[in-house]
Amino acid sequence: SWPPVYLVTPTYRRTAQMADLTRLAQTLMLVPGLHWVVVEDAEVRSEAVAELLDRTGLRYTHLAATKPPNFKKKFLGRGVFNRREGLRWLRQHATEGVLYFADDDNTYDVRIFHEIRRTQRVSVFPVGMILQLGISSPVVRNGKVVKFHDGFQAGRKFALDMAGFAVNLRVLHANPQATMPERLTFLEDGFLKQLHLELEDLEPLASGCTEVLVWHTRTQSSPTPLLENLSKEDMDTNLITL
Ligand code: UDP
Ligand code: MN
Repeated sequence: SWPPVYLVTPTYRRTAQMADLTRLAQTLMLVPGLHWVVVEDAEVRSEAVAELLDRTGLRYTHLAATKPPNFKKKFLGRGVFNRREGLRWLRQHATEGVLYFADDDNTYDVRIFHEIRRTQRVSVFPVGMILQLGISSPVVRNGKVVKFHDGFQAGRKFALDMAGFAVNLRVLHANPQATMPERLTFLEDGFLKQLHLELEDLEPLASGCTEVLVWHTRTQSSPTPLLENLSKEDMDTNLITL
């Protein structure tokens, strides 16, 4: 039996939150050996999230952390302070296992969690539906990562999405100062650089990075713009039920 895969999920209150968390929770319920660390971007934990977590029957830890009240910096990345709280908790409570940052709105094939378990140091794999290229993926030659196919290079050493890598806790413990940086769009690169890795250390998963097992999806409420195009008769004759 394997040590747990710790999924750190930052989440914040919004219309789609419960829909997203429900979909993610019910995917995770299909996978044994997970420990879900859900960190709300808030000062305190909410009842709604607490109840959802409780219903899942999963092993979980429910935390909350947000940016300090006087924090005014521009270009702050999304989910920084709550991910940091997740890291703090892991360093204190988890000895063995693998860390994966699982955003609440992505779409996960359960196979990715089985793949991730094998991570020795840092594993990498493709993420679908990103930016204009439609995919973000390590480029693998002879079993080694040589560069990244990603629409946002911007001088990044590790041009990866948050959903495209997993870290063995040994690496996290060996780099106790490594944290989630603040700067928007440089979270992944900034975090990974602090783990003292070279490209050749990265372990390609998902059949040598040839399969997409996670997608960077985004949930949108169904639009209602048609309403204003409806005639009064349509409404009155009950053709449309609201
Ligand atoms: N998130 C958060 N606080 C925020 C915005 C986002 O905790 O103020 C979380 C969000 O729930 C998600 C992750 O951070 O799990 C990434 O956010 P989002 O999906 O909005 O960013 P994108 O995928 O568009 O980069
Ligand atoms: Mn997202």
